[in-house]
Amino acid sequence: MKQLEKGILMNIQGRDCWIIAGLECITADLPQGNDLTGVKRHNAIRGCRTCLAKENATDITLDIASISHYHHITNIQFKNIFTALTLEERNNIAKEYGLQTSLPIFDQLQWERHLQSPQDIYHIIAGKTLKLLKLMITMLSPEGERNFIREWKSFEYPKQWSKLPNPISHLESFMMSDRIRLGMVMPFILNRSLTINCLKQQEMDKLQRRIKLNRNQVINAIIKCWAIVAKCSQLTFKISLTIDDRIELERYLKKEREALVELFDDFVGLPNLHASYHLSRHVRTFGTLVNTAVGTKEMVHRIFKNKVPHTNCKNIEFDLLKYYTTLQAIRHLSDGGIDPRNLQHSVEFMNLFQDFSHLFKDWFIMESSETDNKEFKGN
Ligand SMILES: [Zn+2]
Repeated sequence: MKQLEKGILMNIQGRDCWIIAGLECITADLPQGNDLTGVKRHNAIRGCRTCLAKENATDITLDIASISHYHHITNIQFKNIFTALTLEERNNIAKEYGLQTSLPIFDQLQWERHLQSPQDIYHIIAGKTLKLLKLMITMLSPEGERNFIREWKSFEYPKQWSKLPNPISHLESFMMSDRIRLGMVMPFILNRSLTINCLKQQEMDKLQRRIKLNRNQVINAIIKCWAIVAKCSQLTFKISLTIDDRIELERYLKKEREALVELFDDFVGLPNLHASYHLSRHVRTFGTLVNTAVGTKEMVHRIFKNKVPHTNCKNIEFDLLKYYTTLQAIRHLSDGGIDPRNLQHSVEFMNLFQDFSHLFKDWFIMESSETDNKEFKGN
């Protein structure tokens, strides 16, 4: 990578090309992402990789620009840490800045450590939705549970969704995508099933004391909160965003923080909720949030992980590289590329691509959608 930053001469299809590449961004789970950025993890006092927020991390009034980490400032802070005379002093300075006591590995490359390490929406949204689902389920009275399950069973789900396990008894086994899906339909299910008798008495009293509203208004506030959470999920996962969408996203993220913190104590200071402060900046940096989501990376990781047992485990890196090159070569030939040994297009591969275009769409096999099925039948 260091060599690529300076440029390497490569021979590509008979022509000498000067190839220059650099690190664009890193995607990782919340704690590992902090490690790669050189910031302390989330259980530290200042545990956000993008800003210096402390225990007031979900305050509505937080001025992010004034407390953000900035690369050039962090550089000075790291210098201060390294010039400390004693170990204790070093740890104290690191604690104050919320930084680790050693430089992150990517500092060997050219990069902006806080701008190029966006938080991942897949983990943030799924984590937040799971927390809200758990809270919701513990609040339900036996009658509430019965009503909820009745509406959940009879709900008109999109055809391509696989069947979800019972959310009351099997919530822990929900995959991230399941949680996000359930989050999207929750406002509708609750709108049909939730009445004032559906909540346990003590939970209702607690909520009434917290938000100072009557019982019906509490129910409406819960449904509205779920609607905002679902709207936020929809906006964050949009494949393309206009300027208006960006403004709407920012507005809804703010609304979501307000609604969740107002209703539930458990969301106060939650790192997942705090991370949503930074999403609007990531949108501006990378175009959309999906561009830096780890959904695809997790799939690629799984593909490579499954490949490892089929190698002799002696030189895994080399085997995986060979596997990856083969995949890319197939892709190249099916796109009409030329194998220099044959000097003509590989018609068989191109036919294969036309007949099975759904196999080449992405890194992983997508769920069959209506259009895919039609195309397949047509061929
Ligand atoms: Zn932050």
